[in-house]
Amino acid sequence: MNNNDEVVKYGKILIHYSVIYKNRKTLEIAVHPDSSVVITAPLNCDKNRIKEKVKKRVKWILKQLKYFKQFEPRTPQKQFLNGETYLYLGKQYRLKIKTGLSEGVKLKRGYFIVVQRDKDNRERTRELLNNWYNVKASEKFKEYYDVCLKNFSGHKNIIPFLKIRKMKKRWGSLSKHGTLTLNTELIKAPKECIEYVITHELCHTVHHNHSKEFYGLLDKTMPDWNKRKHKLEIMMA
Ligand SMILES: [Zn+2]
Repeated sequence: MNNNDEVVKYGKILIHYSVIYKNRKTLEIAVHPDSSVVITAPLNCDKNRIKEKVKKRVKWILKQLKYFKQFEPRTPQKQFLNGETYLYLGKQYRLKIKTGLSEGVKLKRGYFIVVQRDKDNRERTRELLNNWYNVKASEKFKEYYDVCLKNFSGHKNIIPFLKIRKMKKRWGSLSKHGTLTLNTELIKAPKECIEYVITHELCHTVHHNHSKEFYGLLDKTMPDWNKRKHKLEIMMA
């Protein structure tokens, strides 16, 4: 896998995109909720050919970017200050930072209550919150994964090993060696959306592409996957 940043000009607009090379036959363009444009191309695919393809689809790309842009004001950069809202499993909680000797995070009646020795230490708030999210992600993802795996019976080619880490541009991935990776950030999304990402990746254990057969299997396993995907895109944009 290779990541290259490229740019295409459309009038005065510059569209940046990155290319991931994979062992596949077709070229795929994806616009993600974080406004990144990612091209998945066959190995050894010519750079100029990719650029031509991107140029051809530029109107579609702009339409997607515009779609995601409308949700942007909802997620300004977090400052780790009292009153800010943070998501957990699709619900919003208000941040309340308190002074205390026993540091930690608790959810209580719509609040994220962070207790720390120095309540003005924002870096510490960030650390405590991130640790809390990581622990919850490990617990919840494992729980949902087991359920999704059960519903996926009949196609168990391999049972992937579950891994959790922060990823910049994707919610989940399945490696050739059978590791299913979930983005820690997904813990902020509703349960049904997390289940969708897991099921999508599980379908890749049978079909390693986004072919008709892949979507056929996804439809069969999770008939309302499209609704869940849409919800994920809106909530997490
Ligand atoms: Zn996929």
